[in-house]
Amino acid sequence: MEKRDEYGLDTICQLSDESIADKWGALSFPIYQSATFAHRGLGESTGYDYTRVSNPTRQQLEYIVASLEKGTDAIAYASGMAAVDAVMELFAPGDRILVDADLYGGSVRLFNEVGKKNGLLFDTVDFSRDEYQDCSAQDIRAVYLETPTNPMMNVTDIKRLSRWTHDRGILLIVDNTFLSPYFQNPLELGADLVIHSGTKFLGGHHDTIGGFVVVKDKELDERLRFIFKTTGAGLSPFDSFLILRGIRTLSVRLDREQENAIKLTRYLKRQKHVTKVIYPGLEDHPGYEIMKKQARGFGAMLTFEVDSPEFAKSILNNVQLIFFAESLGGTETLITYPITQTHADVPAELLEKNGINDRVLRLSVGLEGIGDLICEFNRVFAIAEKETA
Ligand code: PLP
Repeated sequence: MEKRDEYGLDTICQLSDESIADKWGALSFPIYQSATFAHRGLGESTGYDYTRVSNPTRQQLEYIVASLEKGTDAIAYASGMAAVDAVMELFAPGDRILVDADLYGGSVRLFNEVGKKNGLLFDTVDFSRDEYQDCSAQDIRAVYLETPTNPMMNVTDIKRLSRWTHDRGILLIVDNTFLSPYFQNPLELGADLVIHSGTKFLGGHHDTIGGFVVVKDKELDERLRFIFKTTGAGLSPFDSFLILRGIRTLSVRLDREQENAIKLTRYLKRQKHVTKVIYPGLEDHPGYEIMKKQARGFGAMLTFEVDSPEFAKSILNNVQLIFFAESLGGTETLITYPITQTHADVPAELLEKNGINDRVLRLSVGLEGIGDLICEFNRVFAIAEKETA
């Protein structure tokens, strides 16, 4: 049995691919900052020829991510969007993909502006409400979703959906960025491909951009590896090193960030200007029971709505400890305004359908002391109340 099958996820974060162990015994895997690798003779490769195709530092990272996601291979890309784009290369003009109604805005932009130009067809359904059950499966090649979704935290039962897709020969693609492999493993629940923005919880420090596709099927893996070497969107050795280092602390970061998120959720629920708190760890969240079944945690992302756009804007203008910034999953708490940031390119009718309005704010909860985070909110809410009185 391989080591990675024996250990828990927190231990896997500390493992190394022993087949490429550093010969000097360095614990921190070196950055192999080389574009090319010399051959000892004709037909005698060291195992590495050219970094666009493979690189030891990137391979070390891919080993860990594949192990965490229970896949047979993980491919590391220069960004989460490069990973989504590579997956789209699996399809041909005329192929139809069912995509979730609530998704990261950049994925919506890719589907609408690039995928459609390339002849792919996209239908939008709400998977969390089982809308797919009514779809005729003819010409559908794939299903694409996030669970929980960005930013409205809708939850889909992956196992149930995978029965529907597998009965019909449809590929099931799950973007697992919001929970990370520490809390959820979609491949074990029946997904065929898992996508990550490695920029988020895997990297974990807001210091690099990266992405992953994780796979367990050999043929799919070969096709993706071919696209990877041909299109050249691989993660650089230095960025691979940073994400490798970030993953070492994935479990402790996420445990603590989740603890803070739960406490903040309780706090926000008591605030008079907060009209809605959406967190899948709340018992009144429609996806709560599914989350308990398919995930090991609820994550560190939460969305809330306030009673006026002016109140929302005042919060954004006055935060100090919390950063008003796009992105998520790092050690600092970030507040995001989906309507003008992450979801600015999502068509208005879709935003409305999903309930993403100018009163909705998204929080990625970090590692600050919970007392300080609550003080920050008390201060910011008091200012917003004055400014909007
Ligand atoms: N998937 C989700 C759920 C995201 O939130 C993001 C970015 O915010 C992406 C994919 C794209 O990742 P990247 O920004 O690394 O390209």
